[in-house]
Amino acid sequence: MRERDQYAPAVHINLNVRGKQQSATLEINERARKLRNEGRTVYNFGLGQSPFPVASPVVEELKRHAHEKDYLPVRGLPALQDAVARFHNRKEGTQYSAEDIMIGPGSKELMFILQLAYYGDLLIPTPSWVSYSPQASIIGRNIHWLPTHGYHNWHLMPETLEDFCKKDPEHPRLLILNYPANPTGKTYVLDELKKLAQIARKYRIILLSDEIYGELNYNGKHVSIARFYPEGTIISSGLSKWCGAGGWRLGTFAFPRGLRWLRDAMAVIASETYTSTSAPIQFAAIRAFDGGPEIENYLQHSRKVLRTLARQIHERLQSNGAIVTEPKGAFYIFPDFSPFRESLNRRGISTSKELCRRLLDETGVAALPGSAFGRPPEELTVRMAFVDFDGEAALRDSAEQNNGRGHNRVFVQKHFGHILKGIDTMNEWLLG
Ligand code: GLU
Repeated sequence: MRERDQYAPAVHINLNVRGKQQSATLEINERARKLRNEGRTVYNFGLGQSPFPVASPVVEELKRHAHEKDYLPVRGLPALQDAVARFHNRKEGTQYSAEDIMIGPGSKELMFILQLAYYGDLLIPTPSWVSYSPQASIIGRNIHWLPTHGYHNWHLMPETLEDFCKKDPEHPRLLILNYPANPTGKTYVLDELKKLAQIARKYRIILLSDEIYGELNYNGKHVSIARFYPEGTIISSGLSKWCGAGGWRLGTFAFPRGLRWLRDAMAVIASETYTSTSAPIQFAAIRAFDGGPEIENYLQHSRKVLRTLARQIHERLQSNGAIVTEPKGAFYIFPDFSPFRESLNRRGISTSKELCRRLLDETGVAALPGSAFGRPPEELTVRMAFVDFDGEAALRDSAEQNNGRGHNRVFVQKHFGHILKGIDTMNEWLLG
């Protein structure tokens, strides 16, 4: 027997292993990186990682606190909890105190321990981010995908939620809403949030509002559903997206008073697993959540750069024949290529997974299939993260050309040349 085989699990053990497949976002990133290392031209629309550098005042704070070495309290550094509470209060008019905030090593980890601590079923709209449902299945929770439609911007309609809940009104449930949304780049309007809040209240749903892209709403006017359902909403945020610090791993949850029991149960799990979040990162994060003119300027240009690029990509995809709506925030677009179904079928492509595999092999364009986000396998939707550009240079030029108008053609060509070539390459391939 070869050495490697001695440790291979027997088949029956393998079937019992939880977490058999790596997350789709991380897998595509590794695949794209490998191809690039082999010398292939890759247009990476795979992993949704911020293209921008970490805001520089926050980097400076990290340098100042590199020596911090102690384990911090399990729920977080009190000064950071306070800064996060003030951040939400400033933005949303909420009334959190430091006690209501929990800091974790990424909001992804906090979501996982939330699902561990809370025994309810998971409700998520389809499409939703790739990890909500695998987390629930690792833990063994029931998952219910709630249908949405492209013509409603892929938004969960209040009637859909009501129809689902009224079948068993008392059942404990956790609903995750994410806006601006991954994978669609769309965000709910006020009226939609109010109506969803009413249904959530009626059925006493615990609502996890994933607002990690809130500060990347292109109009800078993100609104949290916590305004309309404060007693049942947990707001999830962090440094990964709006502060460009995905790899720093820092996430935050803001709890209403009535859910302190859940906060405490999560803290017990945290204390037995990751202990506390990295100390230097927590000290630096205070600067990010404190905000101020420099951070606002960074955000203003991040939004402006992303909006310019989103428009360019939307226009090109639409004029080529895809069904697609323009993103309103974040860095994702979710085209539906079903108008190309016949010609794709002739080339042996009938699922979004096959579409993405062939697209990467034949053109170097890396993107994720809609099926990874809970869409039916045969629907030809694809998530494209438009982050494959030099965010630092784009931010710098955007700030220098600050003329109150949009970015000009020179800017677009200089900064988005590669990414738009990726779109054109894909468009040509689709036309076959
Ligand atoms: N949220 C990002 C994405 O959807 C990447 C981070 C992750 O999946 O852990 O691509």
